[in-house]
Amino acid sequence: MVDLGAGLRRALAKLTGAAMVDERAVKELVKEMQRTLITADVNVRLVFELTKRIEERALKEKPPAGMSVKEWVVKVVYDELVKLVGEKHEPKLRKQKILLLGLFGSGKTTQAAKIAHFFKSRGLSVGLVCADAARPAAFEQLQQLAQKVKADFYGEKGAKEAVGVAKRGLERMKEKDVVLIDSSGRSAFDAELARELKEINAAVMPDEKFLVVSADAGQVAGRQAEEFNRAVGVTGVVITKMDGSGKGGGAISAVAASGAPITFLGVGEKIDDLEVFDAKRFVGRLLGFPDLESLLERVKKVAEEEGLREEALEEKLTIKTFYEQLRAARKLGPLQSVFGMLGAPDVPKEILHQSEAKLKKYEVIINSMTPAEREDAGLLRKQKNRMERVARGAGASVEEVRELLTQFERVQKMMDAVRKNRGLRRRLEGLLKGGKLPGLPGFGM
Ligand code: GDP
Ligand code: MG
Repeated sequence: MVDLGAGLRRALAKLTGAAMVDERAVKELVKEMQRTLITADVNVRLVFELTKRIEERALKEKPPAGMSVKEWVVKVVYDELVKLVGEKHEPKLRKQKILLLGLFGSGKTTQAAKIAHFFKSRGLSVGLVCADAARPAAFEQLQQLAQKVKADFYGEKGAKEAVGVAKRGLERMKEKDVVLIDSSGRSAFDAELARELKEINAAVMPDEKFLVVSADAGQVAGRQAEEFNRAVGVTGVVITKMDGSGKGGGAISAVAASGAPITFLGVGEKIDDLEVFDAKRFVGRLLGFPDLESLLERVKKVAEEEGLREEALEEKLTIKTFYEQLRAARKLGPLQSVFGMLGAPDVPKEILHQSEAKLKKYEVIINSMTPAEREDAGLLRKQKNRMERVARGAGASVEEVRELLTQFERVQKMMDAVRKNRGLRRRLEGLLKGGKLPGLPGFGM
């Protein structure tokens, strides 16, 4: 899952960092999403349906009032991903019988204990029944787990036939709020398993039938959901081993597409490694934000910073604004250096980190300048007596005036370079968009 999240975040970051969100940017986003999702074993058809919808909505629908195109595209991506992985399906906290279904090794017995713990920690009493007659070790495994979570346990060692055990177990546990029945698995779904499950289903009459599938199954999990659903009806799916598989996205999307609601995710081997599935939270986590609101806020902030930078770049740097920014840099600390915001992040430390005494001196020096000199500090270079006059007025040495001037000129040069670069890039982009330079390598045309 780490890879899926990283891939999606990368795709979105590219979009939110783009100067302009146009058809090309959206197409690029969609392409990168396709690559990432298919690598995570999401069904190709689902991927193409998803990205087609994203492309159409992003380009054709109008953003709601007050929302920028960039924010709109991010919202569309988020919404469609949530749709892809399904809905929220919370387990009900009430008296109920839950039958667990699934193939060998899917994690059925482990989840039985985790789910028992889930209900117990919410104040309900829980009983665990081992109705797995296929595997001799099943009895001990569940018995031990039941002890661990302090739930009552019923099983019959060496039982040959599951239905009778299930019935007797239910009878024994009838006082419990929640009874969990662990059924037998098979290495693959077959007619015999279907028959046995139907029998248990008829005998137990469970309120919930939770299918346990492993994330390792990837998109095949969808077929399992369909098969078990046809046999006995599935009311919820638990997808396990989300912690260790790169195919979790494939499993989740395939199960969602089968129409079966996902209830829990197993995220480890420990008893509390179980999460109630919530599509929005899941997608939020993939994208690195708790919810859509905070994601959009971030997009807005990036755009605002971009705007500030544009504004600042258009302004001419005078010795006065230079001084103000030195002050601000001192207050904000090096990370939030205003120069960095201006697009010149590598202003040398010795300029940025001025002592308070030095800044005070600079202030007096600047105050001794004429308005014309403050507007164009270059005048001080042109006539030597200007520098002497300012130094005298400020009670400073000519050396100190020259030092301030030199630092100012260095930063001014850097800003000019950034500005020029930007202009050059703009012109290039304009040319490319106008189709005047087709096929230029490295520009994805
Ligand atoms: P069953 O045959 O379906 O009953 O599967 P088990 O409950 O015996 O589990 C099979 C293996 O998967 C065991 O080693 C479990 O510890 C492991 N397992 C179960 N759930 C998870 C999970 O969410 N994450 C990880 N990493 N391992 C799990
Ligand atoms: Mg088992």
